[in-house]
Amino acid sequence: MLYYSTRNNQITSSPAEALLRGLAPDGGLFLPESFESAQINLEKTLTMTSNEISAEILSKFFTDFTKAEIDEIVNLAYNGTFESEEFAPLAKVGGKFVLELYHGPTCAFKDVALSVLPRLVTAAKKKLGDESETVVLTATSGDTGSAAAHGFSDVPGTKIIVFYPARGTSAVQEKQMTSCPGKNVFVAAVDGNFDDAQSGVKKIFAECTMPEGKALSSANSINIGRLTPQIAYYFTAYRDLVNAGEITLGEKVDFVVPTGNFGDILAGYFASLIGLPVGKLVCASNENRVLTEFFESGRYNKKREFHITKSPSMDILISSNLERLLSLLLGTQKTAEYMASLAENGEYVLSAEELAKFTDKFAAGACNDEETLATIGEVYKKHGYLMDTHTAVAWNVAEKLGVCKNKTVVLSTASPYKFSASVLKALGAETSENEFEMLSTLKKLTGAPVPASLARLAEAENLHTDKIKKEEMQNYVLARTEEEI
Ligand SMILES: *Cc1c(COP(=O)(O)O)cnc(C)c1O
Repeated sequence: MLYYSTRNNQITSSPAEALLRGLAPDGGLFLPESFESAQINLEKTLTMTSNEISAEILSKFFTDFTKAEIDEIVNLAYNGTFESEEFAPLAKVGGKFVLELYHGPTCAFKDVALSVLPRLVTAAKKKLGDESETVVLTATSGDTGSAAAHGFSDVPGTKIIVFYPARGTSAVQEKQMTSCPGKNVFVAAVDGNFDDAQSGVKKIFAECTMPEGKALSSANSINIGRLTPQIAYYFTAYRDLVNAGEITLGEKVDFVVPTGNFGDILAGYFASLIGLPVGKLVCASNENRVLTEFFESGRYNKKREFHITKSPSMDILISSNLERLLSLLLGTQKTAEYMASLAENGEYVLSAEELAKFTDKFAAGACNDEETLATIGEVYKKHGYLMDTHTAVAWNVAEKLGVCKNKTVVLSTASPYKFSASVLKALGAETSENEFEMLSTLKKLTGAPVPASLARLAEAENLHTDKIKKEEMQNYVLARTEEEI
């Protein structure tokens, strides 16, 4: 299997190279050249464990690794790190199904991929005879930083440096980062907002020369190694539906996905390309409706007001992974044109004929904060099921678009306890200034178990106390890079 750039199919890489590079040299994203060679035998998955399904899929995409290597990576990633027995259990709620992707170490769905990515990266280095130490940099507004820190924690040959805005994450998110163990984990609060931290990281990538034997890398969601581990749970959900007698083998299923950077939902599309019977993939957005408008009108326009919402992990105006879908459906040349237009004019517009290719498989809808909270309250009242704000956006959109033709799976991307203030408000309960207190309030109110990793957070030791000015980020990276661990 080779990978090519979304903007030029003459630019190719081996799987290991694509994993290490992250971005293609022309600024495009990597795409697998063939989905035919990655077909999955659906019937066989019915008797496979979730780890086996994940390893089977990954071995089709990372053909330069042996199956035994992939098996080991998957087992190390998931065994003992997730609180649930399965990394993606399926719950029946009313007439729908909820795919719970939040039972990992930081209680958000990013754990599923970020538990695998670090080990894929180290295996890729070994494959290429690259003995350098990988220094992973991440700027985070919350979820990515803690998931990356936990994923890379004590992975040999790597260091992970997380920068977060000193004012800008929730107290729970901050503590998840500052209490993350691991000799190779460095976390620093930057005096500024998320944009300051992010531009600082971009500047370091552009300007910083690393010492001999060290290489910079990023953990953000454009890496093909973050996308591919997410395909597995679409298959495990399908397996569970067949095995529970809810559908027959071959029957189509619709998936509704709370979407930001378009990585999660794109993995669903990849699943359909390798043999999963998918009806519609529904892209659910919050008030940042840029994707909803794209699927409705063909116009992607990032020049708009940015809304800070109660589903903050979806507050995004540039959904990077949409570029991969453009390239698959319209080809590399058109994609290069549209991406240039997005950079220059802040927008691009598809023709009606082009748009039809997207709406064949995808549908979209949006939901505001008020509707989000109302949905949490209603679902709890009606079904006794507690969901977080991101999941509620998806549930609301699923209801709004009407009864889907097929059985519907709503992807649940975060634990309700991770956003307890909003959830308490949705249930009409009192909120407090203290987020840790609200965990117990929510527990008392609903009886739903608090994830162990969040329950111990209030008492957890602050292992990382670095506070730096934004001008100091580069020096911080160089100093941590030189540090013996
Ligand atoms: C990152 C995130 C999303 C969005 O996922 P994308 O792959 O970026 O579309 C949704 N919900 C939660 C809780 C997240 O952390």
